[in-house]
Amino acid sequence: MNGSNSTSSYQGSMLMIVAPSGAGKSSLVNALLKEDAGLKLSLSTTTRAPRPGEMDGKDYRFVAQDEFAQERDQGHFLEWAEVHGHFYGTSKPWIESQMQSGSDVILEIDWQGAQQIRKLIPSVQWIFIFPPSIEALEERLRKRGQDDEATIQRRLAAAHVELTHAHEADYIVVNDSFEQALADLKHILASSRLRSGPSMARNPALLKRLGV
Ligand code: GDP
Ligand code: ADP
Ligand code: 5GP
Repeated sequence: MNGSNSTSSYQGSMLMIVAPSGAGKSSLVNALLKEDAGLKLSLSTTTRAPRPGEMDGKDYRFVAQDEFAQERDQGHFLEWAEVHGHFYGTSKPWIESQMQSGSDVILEIDWQGAQQIRKLIPSVQWIFIFPPSIEALEERLRKRGQDDEATIQRRLAAAHVELTHAHEADYIVVNDSFEQALADLKHILASSRLRSGPSMARNPALLKRLGV
C-alpha cells in the first residue's frame, strides 16, 4: 500500500489495540463494536489453534502454517508477526477496501505489527491497554480458562517485553474498571473521528463553501 496516497484522503479512523495477553483487549474491543455500529474489526489470520468457543471467520481466520506462508509470500498481509510461537497477519486487501470506502476500523495486533502499520499508515492511532497489575494479568489469564499452564507462563513472560513498547503508543488505557476503560476507548474513537484529516476529507462541500 502506498502510505501517503492512501492516507491523505482517508475519511475513516484507524485504531490499533495492543496489550499483553489477558489485559482485556478482546473483551473491550467486542464491547466497543457492540455499541458502535460504524466501527469494523480487522479479522486477523493466525496459525494458532482455535480456543474453545472460538469460531473460524469470527475470531480469526485459522489456517495451517503452509497456507500462512503461501499467503505471506503472495503479499496478502499488510503486516505479519510471530507472536508466542504462532504467526498472525492482517489482511491487506481488506484494509485497503475499508480505507477506500472511508470506514472506521480497529485492529487487535501485537507491538511488532503496530510498528509496521504505523510506518505504512501514519494517521493510525495506537492504543495500549495496561492491566492494573501483573498479578491481575495472571489471574485474568487463569480465569479465562482457555490456555494450558505452559501457554499462560509463556504469555506472562512475553508481557514484560510487550509493556516496554507502551511508550510508543498514542494513548494508554488502564483496564481496571472495565466500564471506565470502555468509556476511555469511546472518547479516543470520538476524538479520532474529529482529527483534521478525516474531518476535512468528510466535509468537502463545507470546505468549498468556507473557501478553505
Ligand atoms: P490474546 O493476546 O489473549 O488476545 O491472544 P491472541 O492469540 O488472540 O493474540 C496473540 C497476539 O497476536 C496478540 O498480541 C495479538 O494482538 C496479536 N495479533 C493478533 N492478530 C494479529 C495480527 O493480525 N497481526 C499481528 N501482528 N499481531 C496480531
Ligand atoms: P486479551 O484479549 O487481552 O487476551 P481478554 O479480553 O480475553 O484479554 O480478557 C482476559 C480475561 O480477563 C477474560 O476472562 C475477561 O473476561 C477478563 N477481564 C477483562 N477485563 C476485565 C476487567 N476490567 N476486570 C476483570 N476481568 C476482566
Ligand atoms: P491470541 O493468540 O491470544 O489470540 O493473541 C496473541 C497475540 O497476537 C495478541 O497480542 C494479539 O493481539 C496478537 N495478534 C492477533 N492478531 C494479530 C495480527 O493480525 N497481527 C499481529 N501482529 N498480531 C496479532
